[in-house]
Amino acid sequence: MFIEIRELELHPIDFREEFPPEAIDLGTEVRQRTALTTQGRAQLVEEHHGKHQVVKDIRLTGDLATSLELPCARCLDPVVQDVKRSFELLYRPQGTDAGHEELSVTVAEAEIGYYKGNGLLLEDALREQVLLSVPLKVLCRENCKGLCPACGKNRNAETCSCEQLVEDPRWAALKDLREKLEH
Ligand SMILES: [Zn+2]
Ligand SMILES: [Zn+2]
Repeated sequence: MFIEIRELELHPIDFREEFPPEAIDLGTEVRQRTALTTQGRAQLVEEHHGKHQVVKDIRLTGDLATSLELPCARCLDPVVQDVKRSFELLYRPQGTDAGHEELSVTVAEAEIGYYKGNGLLLEDALREQVLLSVPLKVLCRENCKGLCPACGKNRNAETCSCEQLVEDPRWAALKDLREKLEH
């Protein structure tokens, strides 16, 4: 859904959208598993810079909900993560802030982004919001044993014979010491 400045100049735009699974491209690791639902409102905010310049910002408020699938940080098994988030964002025309530090509107609490050309693609704003709500590291379970560094088997599912090769760090330290003494 494209939110056009021209239309915002006439009236605010209320939206209620549903994007089917996979419709929002979240990159290679994260997958949109279920429909993403969102509702909210887009409004025009005019900033007066001096006497002649008016900067047209888009204020976007609303919420979204979806469910994601992403790999466990240790064993890479898919993990389901539900996402629910409300947002309050301000999009300024790209290039507006170049060289300007002061803003004439108080945008307390609002997150600031930039739009290019004559409007903003709602999907782009949503993608960013979804990615912001993804934890940096998810685990399939708290005590996930991960993959065996030697053979790559999932140690939650099977025990491999490499385990005896994995050294206890205390023994490794002793071995180092012994090697030093021998030389
Ligand atoms: Zn895991
Ligand atoms: Zn192994």
